[in-house]
Order: sequence, then C-alpha cells, then structure tokens
Amino acid sequence: MIPALSLQGRTALVTGAATGIGRACAVRLAQAGATVWINHLGQADAAAALVRDIVAAGGRAQTIEADVSDALAVQRMAEAVGAVDVLVNNAGVIQEKPFLDTTEADWDRLLAVDLKAVFLVCRAFVPGMLSLGQGAIVNIASDLALLGRERYAPYCAAKAGVIALTKSLAREFASQHIRANAVAPGPVATAMVSLEHMSAEWVEKELAIPQHRLGAPEEIADSVLFLASDLSRFYTGQVLGPNGGSVMP
Ligand code: NAD
Repeated sequence: MIPALSLQGRTALVTGAATGIGRACAVRLAQAGATVWINHLGQADAAAALVRDIVAAGGRAQTIEADVSDALAVQRMAEAVGAVDVLVNNAGVIQEKPFLDTTEADWDRLLAVDLKAVFLVCRAFVPGMLSLGQGAIVNIASDLALLGRERYAPYCAAKAGVIALTKSLAREFASQHIRANAVAPGPVATAMVSLEHMSAEWVEKELAIPQHRLGAPEEIADSVLFLASDLSRFYTGQVLGPNGGSVMP
C-alpha cells in the first residue's frame, strides 16, 4: 500500500455503516488499518455481521448504535467512542414525492437525517479531533445537490447544505489540522437506490449519464479512503464526484 494511504493506528467512525456505501467505507477504512466504529440505527445484526467480516479479514471494528439525528444520542455515542481521527458522515434517507405533496413533516425528517445529523455528529466529534491535533471529516453528499432533481427537493436541499457545511468546517478548522471534504456520488446500487424500487422516470434519468450504469458502493468508498488518508493532505473544503460523469463542474 502507498504509505500515505495507510490509516494504521487511527480510529474512524462511519455513520449508517451497516449497509450500502457506509458498509463499503467501513471495510475500506479497516483494510487501510483503521479501527472502525460501525454506527447503525436498529440494524444490530447487519452491523455485527460487518464487524465479523472485518475481523475475519484481519481488521478491527466494533458497533455503536445511535440515531444520528438525535442530539442526545449523538452526544452519548461520542462519549462512548472517544476521539476519532476519521469521521465519515454517511447516514441518510431519501424520499421521492412531488413538491406540492411534500409535507412539513417530510421536510423536517429529511433535513434532520441528511443535514442536521452532520452538524450534530461533527459538533460532537470535532473536540476529540482537536485533542488529537488532527482529523479528517468526509461527508457524503450527492450529485443531486449540484443538479437538483424534480420530486426530490428536500433531499437535494439537505445535500447542498452538507456541501456548504463541509466548506465552512474546512475553513474554520484548517489551522488546527482538521480537514473536511465531501463526496458527492452519482447513482449507486444500494438499498436506497435500486433499479427495481425507483420510478421508471428516475431510472431513465439516473442512467442517462456518460457511463450509463449505477456505481458500486466500493467505488464511492475508494474516494472516501483517499479523503480520509494523508494522501489527500492538501485537500480541504473540496467535493469529489465519483458519479460516472453525471456532473462535470
Ligand atoms: P442505505 O440506505 O444502504 O444507507 C443509509 C444508511 O443510513 C442505512 O444503513 C440506514 O439505516 C442509515 N440511517 C438512516 N437514518 C439513520 C439515523 N437517523 N441514524 C443512523 N443511521 C441512519 O443507502 P446508501 O445508498 O448506502 O446511502 C448512504 C449515503 O449515500 C446516504 O447519505 C445517501 O444519501 C448517499 N448517496 C447515495 C446515493 C445512491 O445512489 N445510493 C447517491 C448519492 C448519495
């Protein structure tokens, strides 16, 4: 392995890590040598199975349950986990609904999990990074933050907020050796996004990208590993786009 890619001796927390992109991130970070905390909500079996897989491959991992949209739960998680060098804010939810049918409750739920949670988790874990004298925050946004998408207004707004929050953190903590970057994936084959469950119109739009395919969670995890490692030491406040060409800034 390229030495700067190694996370040996570092601790990482990945939110919403029992499935999909978060799971792939946990595996990659563990492969790079990090001790990984697998945050999940109500997915104890899947999280435990992931820990078993990581340990069987020679890595180190443990689970921690918390609803990342709940300030108290996040604070308790931070106390239980302690300081981490790497924080991956991955947990998220999505909803397809015409804008005029979107309720205040829909908006609040999407914004709570997809944006407020990133604020809560960063606020809880940055003090530990300050005590370590270093840290790498990687927030999972979406290409839809940059593109917008009909029937996904709260999701797009939340993910655009994640990018702006990331840039603000990058500026505020750069002098204390904490970097904050975002990854804005294109369509990725996970439980959240499957060709069987999304509307035909959505599938048509999502596949109308230059590579004309869904990404694999591992293809997103590779960008996350890069941003979590010293290989990206001159990156902060940036948005990487593993997206099959959906966005070309
Ligand atoms: P997923 O549904 O497999 O993963 C989301 C995870 O977040 C789940 O494990 C879920 O249990 C967890 N979660 C939800 N609410 C939570 C809460 N309150 N507290 C803790 N955990 C919670 O889907 P995924 O595709 O792997 O999504 C991961 C991230 O990637 C999300 O932020 C999503 O918005 C983003 N993303 C996904 C795609 C895609 O096409 N799949 C594209 C761009 C961005």
